[in-house]
Parts: sequence; structure tokens; C-alpha cells
Amino acid sequence: MATTPTVYLNGRFLPLDEARIPVLDRGFIFGDGVYEVIPSYSGHPFRMAQHLARLQRSLDAIQLPNPMTTALWGRLAKKLIGLNEGRDQAVYLQVTRGAAKRDHAFPADPTPTVFMMSNTMSTPARELVTNGCACVSATDNRWLRCDIKATSLLGNVLMRQRSAEADCLETIMFRDGFLSEASSSNVLVVHGRTVSAPPNNHLVLPGTTNDVVIELLRKARIPLTLRELHEDEVRAADEIWLTSATKEVLAVTRLDGVPVGSGKPGPLFKRVYRLYQNFKRTVMRRN
Ligand code: PLP
Repeated sequence: MATTPTVYLNGRFLPLDEARIPVLDRGFIFGDGVYEVIPSYSGHPFRMAQHLARLQRSLDAIQLPNPMTTALWGRLAKKLIGLNEGRDQAVYLQVTRGAAKRDHAFPADPTPTVFMMSNTMSTPARELVTNGCACVSATDNRWLRCDIKATSLLGNVLMRQRSAEADCLETIMFRDGFLSEASSSNVLVVHGRTVSAPPNNHLVLPGTTNDVVIELLRKARIPLTLRELHEDEVRAADEIWLTSATKEVLAVTRLDGVPVGSGKPGPLFKRVYRLYQNFKRTVMRRN
């Protein structure tokens, strides 16, 4: 039988089923908080510095001081990974504006709530990598600060539910006719030999995995453009890829029931997937 996971809450490591927060926590009442999900392979967090830099940007955007130093986040993550099961784990960390009398305006002197957990993570199954996945599409009706990794995820939750109900992996979103991202992934497309992706702005989360893929494409001198992509261009693409810390890079082979390109993961996907796995191995060997 699996043991109860150990989590971190406000300065203490304790069993998950003993972790409690007050009902007036602003994370619970307003979704007034931010979070990160950091993959860890064989005990080593991957792209930790980049995740913590994004956490800092999210905290700055909601005017909440960072309750920890980078070094302390790193030590806590490592300790938590050691206390939990699984060779590969996904470390989740969340900072909220803490408990206060319910009022939309910030409390004068908030005490943030800091929560961390680390769950066993499986990298995408071989079958999913080999055959690709199916997605649906929807109009992006979320707010206009999608660059903040906020815990108020209702828009994303409703989007993901659409794909779950269609037995698909993701919902790819278009805002005013242009590609934004998917409910919990970034999206890249391929036309011929060129990869394109929407630029980072307030309409998308700047993905850490997307950044790795972009770095790898540049290193391999694979043509890349960062630009707005019209829905028609996405539907006419030869390949569509999803990226996220836990999905890594996956090929979308059906969109709204229609095959993408050949209907199989394309040649550029296969190349980038290999580059990504090699990069992961190299980084992990250095740790
Ligand atoms: N876009 C959204 C809305 C997300 O929630 C996520 C990850 O959860 C991503 C993109 C991908 O980001 P990352 O590669 O850092 O996991």
C-alpha cells in the first residue's frame, strides 16, 4: 500500500492528510495566489531556476513579496522529493495571500500561505509519443493576464473539461481568431520545415518547456518564427505540438476530429522529441 505523501505547509513537513489551511485563506476564497509545477527526474528538479524566475514574475504581478529565497525554495524542493515516493516526481508549490477577513482589497500586512507537494510523475507513455494525441478547440474566453501562473484557474478548468468530455488530451484555444495556447500547455505548429509559435505576451503563459524547445530548435538551426498564428493556419499545419513540464513535447494528430497533416506524428516532431530527451539526459548527468 502506498504511504501517505509528505507535504510542506508554512514551515513544516507533515503528512498530506494532516495539512490544514484556514477557510478564510484568500487562495480558497478568491484564488488569490500563484503556483509552479516543476518536474524532477531521479531526484533532480529540471529547469528549477527558470521555474523560480517565473514564480517571481507571477508574485510581482500580484504584488506579493516572495516568502523564500531561491536557495531556500531549492532546498525545500529537494527535501520534499526525498521524502516522497517515485523516481520522477512533479513538485507543486503554491503561495497565496494568506488568511484575512473577506475583502477584495489586499490585507494591510498579509502572511502568505506556502504549500508544496510532490507527486509521482510518469513521463508520457510510449504509445502517446508514437501515435500522438487528439485535441478539441475552443474560443479563448479567459482573462487578459494569462502570463500570470495564477491559482484562479476556472477558465482553464472549464477548457480542459471540454476536451475531457470529448475523450481528448487538450483544448487548443483561439482568441479573436488567433492561436493562444491550450488549457495547460503551449502550442507550436509546423508548416513545411518551419516551426511557428505565438510570442510571449499577456495572452499566454510563458512556458518553461516551450523555452527549452525553442532553445533546441535554435541550436539545431531549425527555422523558427514567433508570430501570431491565424486559426486557418493552425488547421492547415503539417504538425501541431503541445509542450508542458509534465507532457514534455507531444504531437497533436487530430484536431476537432480532423487529422493534422498525415494524421501521424511528423518528422520534425520526432527530431525535436529526440533532442528534448537528449537534453534532459545531459542536464541530469550534470547534476
Ligand atoms: N500554458 C498553461 C495555461 C499552463 O497551465 C501550462 C502549464 O501548466 C503551460 C502553458 C506550460 O508551461 P510549462 O511548460 O512551464 O509547464
